[in-house]
Amino acid sequence: MKMVRSMNYKRVQELRWDPTLGEWVMVSNIRDLRPWQPQDFCPFCPGTPETGFGWDILILRNKFPMLNEEPIPPGKYKFYSTAPSYGRCYVVVETPKHDIDDISDLDVTEIYKVFKGVKRKQEDEMRDPKAIYFLFFRNKGKEIGVSLTHPHSQIYVLPFIPVKVLRELINSNRYYSKKKQCLFCDIVNIEKEYGERVVANTDYWIAFIPFYAHWPFEVHIYPLTHIQLLSQLNTELTKDMARIVKKVLCGIKNIFEKPMPYMMVLHQAPLKGIYTFYHMHIEIYGMYRMVGKLKYAAGMETGGGNFTYDSTPEEAAHMLRNTVEIKCKE
Ligand code: ZN
Ligand code: ZN
Ligand code: FE
Repeated sequence: MKMVRSMNYKRVQELRWDPTLGEWVMVSNIRDLRPWQPQDFCPFCPGTPETGFGWDILILRNKFPMLNEEPIPPGKYKFYSTAPSYGRCYVVVETPKHDIDDISDLDVTEIYKVFKGVKRKQEDEMRDPKAIYFLFFRNKGKEIGVSLTHPHSQIYVLPFIPVKVLRELINSNRYYSKKKQCLFCDIVNIEKEYGERVVANTDYWIAFIPFYAHWPFEVHIYPLTHIQLLSQLNTELTKDMARIVKKVLCGIKNIFEKPMPYMMVLHQAPLKGIYTFYHMHIEIYGMYRMVGKLKYAAGMETGGGNFTYDSTPEEAAHMLRNTVEIKCKE
């Protein structure tokens, strides 16, 4: 149900600071002005006024973005802090093919083109002094509210560091100061050595369900070389990233009879500053506990902030690894 309100309500688009948790909330009511579109119209298919023809992938400005290049000046409020919603939101149309279920149905070369496009976009965005963070993510599945089925992902260019990445930066920095080693490299080495939680391998990447996974099929994908940013990956590493993402997403799709909803997000260093202690990686959160049973971030998780895991990451990794081995040959 949509919130009902009168048309003359004030337009707001601003960052609001939560002083209790110490984090930003992005507030905008201009997204509700999105026009109604017929059910069968796909804005991402080739041949619309926005998309045109003759492309493999497209990166479009989101027409009703959460963040804006020239945001409405934030409101002045008693007691509370705000900041301008400066930034850019993009939609990455990953393929002209409307009818595939997921990007794992594409060839490695097609997926590589997506990552190459995103990488280029990041290189552009890095030149903007006000662009602090480049968040690349993908939501998949009707159950988690993805209404447009045409394969697409998103980019948020943010004026702040997202809170989850910030926590990783703080902890890995602390670890680095103590041990003079990268926390993530150490985790990768441990997972490689133990093996039970590894889901897939390629020449330059490793995928595993971490010891400390939160979501039922949470897979972390790391480059074996110590790298901070997507823009630092060379062609070979980017191609190999396409290879391992295809494997893992194929496993996620085929582990149960019904493809499961997931979220995928790229964790990398901020665009400004030096973060040599950090190590970029991809996180995928596969959200089925079992066939058709969605894990919710409910009272404990959302209210308390800590996750409960209704199996073990080792068991989940075993299932997923078998699926990848049997069903996901390149
Ligand atoms: Zn389409
Ligand atoms: Zn590292
Ligand atoms: Fe992470």
